[in-house]
Order: sequence, then C-alpha cells, then structure tokens
Amino acid sequence: MPELPIKKYDEPVLRNKARPVKKINRALLSLLDDMWETMRAAEGVGLAATQVGVLQRVVVIDVGEDPIELINPVIVGRAGEEEGIEACLSVPGLMGEVERSERVTVKALDRRGKTFWLDAEGLLARVVQHELDHLDGVVFVDRASSLTKIEPPPRFRVVFMGTSDFSVPSLRALARHHEVVAVITRPDRPVGRRKIMTPPPVKEVAEQLGLCVLQPQDCRSPEFRDELAGLEPEILVVVSFGQILPKGVLEVTPWGAVNVHASLLPKYRGAAPIQHAIMNGEERTGVTLMKMVGRLDAGDIILQAAVPIGANDTYGTLEKKLAHVGAKVLLRGLERMVKEDFAPLPQAEERATFAPSLDRSDERVQWQEPAVQIERKIRALYPEPGAYVSWQGRRLKLWQTRVVESPTALPPGQVVDVTDEGPVVMCGQDALILERVQVSGGKPMDGASFSRGYRIQPGDSLI
Ligand code: ZN
Repeated sequence: MPELPIKKYDEPVLRNKARPVKKINRALLSLLDDMWETMRAAEGVGLAATQVGVLQRVVVIDVGEDPIELINPVIVGRAGEEEGIEACLSVPGLMGEVERSERVTVKALDRRGKTFWLDAEGLLARVVQHELDHLDGVVFVDRASSLTKIEPPPRFRVVFMGTSDFSVPSLRALARHHEVVAVITRPDRPVGRRKIMTPPPVKEVAEQLGLCVLQPQDCRSPEFRDELAGLEPEILVVVSFGQILPKGVLEVTPWGAVNVHASLLPKYRGAAPIQHAIMNGEERTGVTLMKMVGRLDAGDIILQAAVPIGANDTYGTLEKKLAHVGAKVLLRGLERMVKEDFAPLPQAEERATFAPSLDRSDERVQWQEPAVQIERKIRALYPEPGAYVSWQGRRLKLWQTRVVESPTALPPGQVVDVTDEGPVVMCGQDALILERVQVSGGKPMDGASFSRGYRIQPGDSLI
C-alpha cells in the first residue's frame, strides 16, 4: 500500500469533476487503501480521490469516530447553517472560514456495493461537505469568507526520556514533527525465568526510527547531566520514564522539561494513575502535559484532554487510549508553549490526589469488599500483573468477572451458584461471576471450563 502524492492547489486536476464509480473492483479497493494510507500519513481527517489525481467519486473520512468510506456519495438532506474554520491537505499553509450546512444526510455505497445513508453533524458534516466539494472540482478557498495563514508549527530540538509502551506514541509523534537528538531510556533488564536481557519498548522503537539511544545507569549523576547538556536540546520531553529527575537535569535546556502524565492533574499524581482511576470507578480520566518541577507531578499545566472510562476498560485498553491522546496533547501543547500569550495553569493544590504504585498486597482480592469494587480492581490489574485469590492452596488469577445480585446470602468467598458462564462467588455486597480465570501453572480458561474441569460446587470456598 503506497502513500500517494497529494495534488496541490494549482494543479488543474483538482478543478475537474470526478466520474461515478461504475464497478467496485480490486483496483478501486486498492485505491481506497492507498487513500487511507495517504490521509493518515498526512494527518488529515478526510481525503477525496481527486486529491490524489484520480477522477472517481470516492472519499475517505476519519474524524476520530468510525472511519468512513463513501463511494458515489450524494447529499440527500441538509439542515441549518454554520460558519467554521477549514483547512485542506491540498492547500497547505492556509485556513479559512466557510459556511456549511450544520447537518447533512448522505447516500452512498460501501466497499461491498451496498447502499447506506449517513447522518452527519458537527465536524463530520463539515468534512463530508468539504470532501464532496472536491469531487465537483471545488476547493474550500472558493467558498471561504476570509483566509488566514497557518503559522508553521515550532520544531524543537528535543531529548526524549521514556521507557514503557505508554511512551511509544509520544515518541513517534515527536520524531515526525520535531528533531529528536537523543532518546534516553532505562538499561535492558533480564526478563522471565531464563533471564533474557530485554530492552524497554521505547528502545526498540527508537532504534527502528534510527534515533540515538542512551541508557544511563543513573540519571542523578553529574556525568549524565553533562552528557545531556552536550546534546544541546532546547527542551526535554519526559513520558513514563520511571526515574525521578534532579533539578539540575530539568534546568539543562532553555525550555525546561515537560511531562505527559496519564491523569487529569491535580488528580492522581504518582506512578499508577490509570490503575487508581479504574479502581475508584471514575467515569473519565485523561492526559495532562505539564512543566516538570522538583515536586512529583506538581508542575503547571500546559494542556489537558479528557478520555471517558468505559465499563469494560482495563488498565491495558485504557493505557493504550491515553497513550494516543497523550501524543496529540504533547504536539498541541508544544505548539501552544511558543505562543506569546501562553501562560501555563498552576495546579489547584487543594484538589491534589495521589496514585502511588501498587504493591504485591494490592493484587490479592478481598472478598469482603463489595463486588463492584472487586470487579474494578480486576480490570485495573489486567493484563498485568493480575488480581488473584487462593483456591485449594493454589493461586487463582481472576482475569474477567461480572457483578451479579446474589441469589442467597453466604459468607464472602463462598461459591453460591455454578452457572453456564462460571461459578458465582459471594462478595461483601452482591456477587461476582468468574468469567475468565487461570489456575497457577495452567492456561487462562473461561469460567465454565473451570467449573467443569475442577468440579466447582456451591459451598466451595475461595479465599
Ligand atoms: Zn480538502
């Protein structure tokens, strides 16, 4: 799937009307795939086939909800009017105000040739109208009531410090838009029973990107400080690095150090914000870009973005979402910092809460707690390290559970029922169905296989 060159404003092909697609064949599907690749690489939200020089009525759109492909689209309904700012991959460096319908209904074919209708409003409606214009040879500047130059985003000379998977999207984003002079990560560590020396996730990605990698033993040493200063970075970007940095390091660069933190600060300062947010049953959390200061996660806020926590979100799924939002917040925050009128927002100290790293004792499930709370803890510890209980002297990991009302009242930890989905265990309040578990030494299995294989009976007890 190659990326295609995007036609620019002065190229005549952009002014031609595209023809309807007659047949959805392999060539068209491969065009769609190439358009996705091209749009994503250019970080656009929509792309019409005319923009890659193909005069067919095809567009792809992704405004962050579901990706949409429209073949032979026609607007069949409109409502409302709204002014808004637009830009276009074919018109780099310019943005303008354009009046569009607030809501549109589009009839189109999908890639299987099936007709469907799309009701679009807000940003999606605007992008649909913009892209359909391209199919008619119309570019947004033709409709704009005013045009302004887009300031080119700043390009910092950055030293990146990060370690875990959470850091990876931020590193990739930085490498695309800034000059990353070095990536600092922790040393390789022996992993597993065979103690195989394993690099941190950030190191592997940095090497793929061809970046210089440093793995200092001690970030507090004067030698490290000097090495860092020698790289002459303009700013340090720290994302889930795993070591506290001394003041000397934070002051090496003219722009200081910024940190991407996985919570809406001042809530959940500390090493395990994602886990604590899930355990506390928060409905939303988010990402903060802040200036780093000597005190843990207490720096002024540059930018924040909220992310909802779904009922099935685990530490794993939520970390992934937050990591991607974090990369966006980082890029936008760096743009914001260079603006003249920019002033970072001090954190409201009185609202600060803490999310310290979890220890071994947090992994054991306490049946006397309410089922809702236990279920949250299990999600907060999934996929790593996992919550567990003891069962017949063995460790039983609880990977997935569901809260149910208890049919009878028994002491917490006792099996009240055995259903098709798995055993039902009494908690301090309500009960939990064990939907997915793992007996130590074995493989994960569903609750029904566990009940059958180990002959679980009502009255059995898990502690
Ligand atoms: Zn456009």
